[in-house]
Amino acid sequence: MRIPLTTQAQDQLKPRIQPGDITVDATLGNGYDTEFLAQQLGEQGWIFGFDVQAKALEQTRNRLKQIQCNLQLFQQCHSTMKTEIPKSFHKNIKAIMFNLGYLPGSDKQLITQTKTTLMALSQAAEIIAINGLISIMAYPGHPDGEQETQAVINWTEKLDSQQFKLITHSQATHFQGPQLMILEKVRSCLR
Ligand code: SAH
Repeated sequence: MRIPLTTQAQDQLKPRIQPGDITVDATLGNGYDTEFLAQQLGEQGWIFGFDVQAKALEQTRNRLKQIQCNLQLFQQCHSTMKTEIPKSFHKNIKAIMFNLGYLPGSDKQLITQTKTTLMALSQAAEIIAINGLISIMAYPGHPDGEQETQAVINWTEKLDSQQFKLITHSQATHFQGPQLMILEKVRSCLR
């Protein structure tokens, strides 16, 4: 059986996250990625989490009850990450995870929006550490998701290839199946 892309994302990030690191979950949803991050980080680690839905923050807090780490959740659009995450953490963030689309089993209107997704991705690219990873799960199979997925692909293609490498781009085999992109920042902007 093929490993789900969400698991593949976690498997690739895992060896790159150490206890005490700083990470971001840009789309909390049901909190599975936050839980995964917390398991790698330990008490000294940090997770900044964003979601526009109160339910997502609640689910994430419940899931993390048993795990100790510094958890700061914002019921806000992920395009506020650069302002909300303290400046002293910028460029020290080891992993930023995006899982786009809507919260399964919830309001499908509350879907990630191409414009703010691209804004958040640009901020993520700015605040990620050198050797840090940005993972993006995109879902072209739902209304608007196709346009968003294409916009994300276009955005990755326009990045400075001296600075960012697309180390993974996998697609589920079924028609319009989800896509996983993982970017690594290999060096800082020279300008
Ligand atoms: N589609 C995935 C789950 C994605 S969950 C799957 O099938 O497993 C995506 C989460 O992003 C949802 O909880 C939704 O509320 C959240 N979201 C939507 N717009 C957002 C925004 N602008 N900023 C942060 N989170 C957002």
